[in-house]
Amino acid sequence: MNLIESFLHVPRIAYFSMEIALRSEIPTYAGGLGILAGDTLRTAADLNMNMVAVSLVSRAGYFRQTIDAAGQQNEAPQLWEPAQWATRMGAMVSIDLLDRMVWVSGWLYVLESPAGGRQPVILLDTDLMENQAEDRLITHYLYGGDDRYRLQQEAILGIAGVRMLQALGFQVREYHLNEGHSALLGIELLRRYAFPLEEVRQDESPYDILSVRQLCNFTTHTPIDAGHDKFPYALVDEVLGPIIDKPLMQRLGGGDRLNMTLLALNLSEYVNGVAVRHAEISAKMFPGYHMRAVTNGVHPRTWTHDSFAKLYNLYLPGWCREPEILVRADHAIPDAAIWQAHQDAKNALFRHIIEVGGPHLDPDIATIGFARRMTAYKRPDLLFIDPDRLISIAQRHPFQLVIAGKAHPRDETGKALIAWVHSMVQQLKESIPIVFLPDYQMDLAKKLVAGVDIWLNTPLRPLEASGTSGMKATFNGVPNLSILDGWWIEGCIEGITGWAIGDDPDASTENDAASLYQKLETVVLPLFYGDRSAWIGVMKGAISKNASYFNSHRMMRRYAVEAYMQ
Ligand SMILES: *Cc1c(COP(=O)(O)O)cnc(C)c1O
Repeated sequence: MNLIESFLHVPRIAYFSMEIALRSEIPTYAGGLGILAGDTLRTAADLNMNMVAVSLVSRAGYFRQTIDAAGQQNEAPQLWEPAQWATRMGAMVSIDLLDRMVWVSGWLYVLESPAGGRQPVILLDTDLMENQAEDRLITHYLYGGDDRYRLQQEAILGIAGVRMLQALGFQVREYHLNEGHSALLGIELLRRYAFPLEEVRQDESPYDILSVRQLCNFTTHTPIDAGHDKFPYALVDEVLGPIIDKPLMQRLGGGDRLNMTLLALNLSEYVNGVAVRHAEISAKMFPGYHMRAVTNGVHPRTWTHDSFAKLYNLYLPGWCREPEILVRADHAIPDAAIWQAHQDAKNALFRHIIEVGGPHLDPDIATIGFARRMTAYKRPDLLFIDPDRLISIAQRHPFQLVIAGKAHPRDETGKALIAWVHSMVQQLKESIPIVFLPDYQMDLAKKLVAGVDIWLNTPLRPLEASGTSGMKATFNGVPNLSILDGWWIEGCIEGITGWAIGDDPDASTENDAASLYQKLETVVLPLFYGDRSAWIGVMKGAISKNASYFNSHRMMRRYAVEAYMQ
């Protein structure tokens, strides 16, 4: 039996995602969406859920980030060798793009759970001798290129992805579209499930939209309009040709442009947002659809530092398969053990900072972490709005900062924010130690979310759909200090699991900054230095009340019962 056949006994749920974070060495992801896709498959492996994931091979990755002395982000391709991690499969499928035939092959990556589960991940690749030079690059650059390039990638993912699963012999019983990028798979399914023409009356459509809707589930991921791909129909015609009739395409995908979110909504029976508030906002953005909420979660073992994993193994065995057990962490684990596990994680982070050429940080000083995509709505500048105020807080209650994050190569505002944060690092040098660690990726995220004392998040409401890095922190007993947006609306119990920044949803950025300074100065830092046992109480609150809930096992059990099994 060859490797692929070992996955063909059971009908599977096919999970389509433009990006997927399989491991740090495989740069086929850019940020939270890819991390979520990876955690989804990791949980499927733990729970033996019979999924198969489809994504692009992205041979040049997203990009490798360096920051020069002036604070400018530089981007280099992050080439990786698929053969090192995955197996080339024999099957090839073809698709017509820009009036020529493009061949697509696939790599099989096997995602393995420590519990023994294995899930196939198929990474689509057009870099084949059979293809013209230009077409060989279609699956190269994650989120690179222009609209034409993006539409070609989405056609590979959605259309060639469905064909590849069929060619390989997978029996798919449900499709899950992780974001609208793969929505063209619905069009491919429409064509596959079309009624025979002789059975169709002249005024009827041959397409069995109901059957396709029964098969599809769609998760939308952002309230930001620019995050929803829209392609001019002229471009769609140029790239895809006449794949289905225009009036139907417009009915499903929107009148003026092909809106991939609308297309996915119209072809999916089950649709959801990624947190309660995000589902409410998505329902307003796309009225008329029944928008459910399945709040995101993170994969327990992946995001838990070894020091805490050892503790949980000892005091709460079974937590990897059933993270709900962590609900008892507050009573089951001694305070001293929690504090020691945290010191181990903190020391490991500080050692890493020295290894990569950074400064020596003092492990007794309160350390705040901030790492995520650097883009305007995440407001990495909020903390620095009033440098004098920040210095005066640090004089009374010393703290230090560790920051990381990439800006999309075309996000000029995001790049300017990195440069601005960089200038702040210089300006505050004498008063507050601040480290910006370049090239944020999975391994670095894992060190950061465990090694700091406080995880900070300052998004512009209501644009943080969910956020997941704060959930990772909770598995390591690191409390969140965050604007009430995304998951934190559900996760925050003031003073018990962490702290909210401001409670006025209409507050200006200046007011949010003032609330942040006040909370740091009067609540968070005094507690850190003044009452260690109460502080450990909050650490335990984060684990027992948040990690026990905001995990991908709870999330996947909900998708299984409410989406896949319906
Ligand atoms: C978790 C993670 C993210 C997402 O973080 P948010 O807080 O949701 O913005 C992005 N990048 C990496 C490398 C991560 O590990």
